[in-house]
Amino acid sequence: CKIQNNNNATRFEKSLDKEIQEYFWIKNDLLKLGLKEELYLDYQPIYSIDTNRLVGVEALIRWNHGEKGIIPPARFIPIAEKIGMIHPIGEWVLLKACSQNKEWQELGYDPIYISVNVSVLQLEKPDFTKRIKKILEKSMLKPQYLQLEITETFFTQNYELIQDTIKELGKLGIKIAIDDFGTGYSSLGQLCELNINNIKIDRMFIDGVDGNINKSKIVKGIISLAESLNITLTAEGVEREEELKFLNTNRCTFVQGYLFSKPVEAYKIEELLKRNG
Ligand code: C2E
Ligand code: CA
Ligand code: CA
Ligand code: CA
Repeated sequence: CKIQNNNNATRFEKSLDKEIQEYFWIKNDLLKLGLKEELYLDYQPIYSIDTNRLVGVEALIRWNHGEKGIIPPARFIPIAEKIGMIHPIGEWVLLKACSQNKEWQELGYDPIYISVNVSVLQLEKPDFTKRIKKILEKSMLKPQYLQLEITETFFTQNYELIQDTIKELGKLGIKIAIDDFGTGYSSLGQLCELNINNIKIDRMFIDGVDGNINKSKIVKGIISLAESLNITLTAEGVEREEELKFLNTNRCTFVQGYLFSKPVEAYKIEELLKRNG
């Protein structure tokens, strides 16, 4: 028994050790990151359920590390937030995403919106709206083709400041989406007050929604809530036909997920745009 405990303790120490090591190399490498060389964006299509048309894409960051290969955002964004690198990285993402969308429009395709994830830390910066304006000027993208995805966690931090920023962004004509809806703490009142355009229902509720009574009740509830507030809805992580069928029957607006496409490189989106008209 004693030996077993020792083994467990050693295993625990080893995994902790690995985590700490990973934290340090990611931190170090982030600090000397060549933004332009090592970062890139994949884009995941978002479709209208009604028309089957591509209406937008979500930009998702990837880090192509010289030695370690491709590092997913879940592993480095939280560390980038801790060490302040989220600001240059976030700015790079916004400019890249807006410029890419403008490029597609210049090629003559029907305009779609680009949806960009922003960290609460970016929103908290007092000059965030000014920076967004600059990025729109630089990329020459019209504000209605940019959507910012904000996670629900912002409702718990610096709420007043962020609320003002969201209102300013809305006045510019930018779309605001609440990401991972259902996992955080937002309330009806807050959604009303902020003029949110879009709610993204978290994947956790969509996964198996067709066969789970509680999930289906929650999703139906969110849909009717959004409808009554005039907010469009995006279901995230749609993987199965049955899930899509449920969402269609219950009048969800937009869908996104592996059933349609994984996040892909820009040239693949261009192929979809060609078919889109
Ligand atoms: P998220 O914003 O909730 O993005 C959706 C994630 O779900 C993406 O993972 C996407 O690849 C994945 N996904 C999409 N459809 C499906 C599906 O049908 N099934 C499953 N199992 N997964 C699906 P990814 O690209 O690894 O991104 C993870 C998270 O990293 C994002 O979650 C977002 O919070 C964050 N992130 C990504 N790019 C950025 C960025 O530019 N800035 C910031 N601040 N965060 C980012
Ligand atoms: Ca997102
Ligand atoms: Ca999400
Ligand atoms: Ca699923």
